[in-house]
This record gives sequence, structure tokens and C-alpha cells, in this order.
Amino acid sequence: MTARKRLWVDPRLCEGHALCLDTAPEVFGLSGDDVAECVAEPAEELLAQVSAAIDACPRGAISLTDDPKGQPAP
Ligand code: SF4
Repeated sequence: MTARKRLWVDPRLCEGHALCLDTAPEVFGLSGDDVAECVAEPAEELLAQVSAAIDACPRGAISLTDDPKGQPAP
């Protein structure tokens, strides 16, 4: 079983270029403040798109980390 992931956009870094929306439109959206936000939990099959969005973001605002709460119990 793979660990769950936590996807986060840092609103202090995001400048609303929307490149992440172009790359992974099912995962990212723009808030009313023109800051990107995650609109869906990144499903396994979307992780390649999410990874591409992270690479595309000129501000390094997107992070994807393991979610400890999503780890299976030992
Ligand atoms: S590409 Fe980066 S800076 Fe641009 S909207 Fe997405 S998270 Fe924000």
C-alpha cells in the first residue's frame, strides 16, 4: 500500500500564474484571490501531473509530501 500524500500550495509564494492549472486541471484551481489551491486530493493516477505541475511552478509554491496520518497502522 502506498502512503497518502499531502499536497499544498503556499499562498505566500503563489503568484497565480496558473501554470499548475494548465498542467493538472483536475487537481488545482484558483481561489478568488487568484491564488492556486488544491481542489481535489491527488489520486494515484494524477501524481505524474502533479509532479509536472510542481516542476512547472516558477515560484516553487507547490509541495507534495507523505501524509503521516495516511500511513497504515504498524
Ligand atoms: S504555477 Fe505556482 S505560482 Fe502559478 S498559480 Fe500554480 S502554484 Fe501559483
